[in-house]
Amino acid sequence: MNPIALLLSLIPFWTHPLLIEPVYTQPVDQVVEFNTKALQLQRQWDLFNMRNPFSSYYSPSFNLYYMIDQPDSIQVYVGRFTKLDKDYEPKDLVLLSDLDPSLPERFMRQEAAHSFVALKKAVFEATKHTLSTNSAYRSYSTQVGLFNRYAQIDGYEEANTYSALPGHSEHQTGLAIDITLSPNTMEFGDSSAYPWVKRNAHKFGFIERYPENKSYITGYIYEPWHWRYVGVELATYLYNTQMTFDEYWINGLHE
Ligand SMILES: [Zn+2]
Repeated sequence: MNPIALLLSLIPFWTHPLLIEPVYTQPVDQVVEFNTKALQLQRQWDLFNMRNPFSSYYSPSFNLYYMIDQPDSIQVYVGRFTKLDKDYEPKDLVLLSDLDPSLPERFMRQEAAHSFVALKKAVFEATKHTLSTNSAYRSYSTQVGLFNRYAQIDGYEEANTYSALPGHSEHQTGLAIDITLSPNTMEFGDSSAYPWVKRNAHKFGFIERYPENKSYITGYIYEPWHWRYVGVELATYLYNTQMTFDEYWINGLHE
């Protein structure tokens, strides 16, 4: 027996270093599975510690998360318990302003960008409102700056209810967009464009990621401006079932 194997065999099974730091090499369609495990682990830990993981003021006892190993999946689930590598940057980012000059210079992944431009066109035809955006793709380092700024203003706990920690933001996937009717305002949720988008965005592959009265599930405050591209098929399924993206993953409905 080689000396390293001998040493490892002396360590009790439940503290075996290989179990503490598992290595995931699943194909794309199994990404869901390990992320669900991360959620269950975190939940078990918090139940054990009598914490309520579904409170909007919930701050995990410790930052237990699983690294996302298939970040390029259109259905990638980025949340409090799953983390993108700090160096992850989507390879197919395009400028929204290149597709539609009336949009600001913000990046999204190609498929999501084209769908957003199509959605914008449809919204204008139906409501005469012109969609714009305050934010779409954000790098890890941008998120560091943003979160630190919010934490400075409101404190860490409060900032954690509405702003994601670096690596835990959907904006790093290039699939999320914060919609507004005019840049640098929050104008959207109170307009007549919003209910139209709520009823029709799934036809363009978008879902409302943090809906009203669902904070106990999503872990974030109601954000009518934040929309996420997941593809038409899944978006339609989630719209028809009125299910959050979190429930879809936690309940293992990907199968
Ligand atoms: Zn957002």
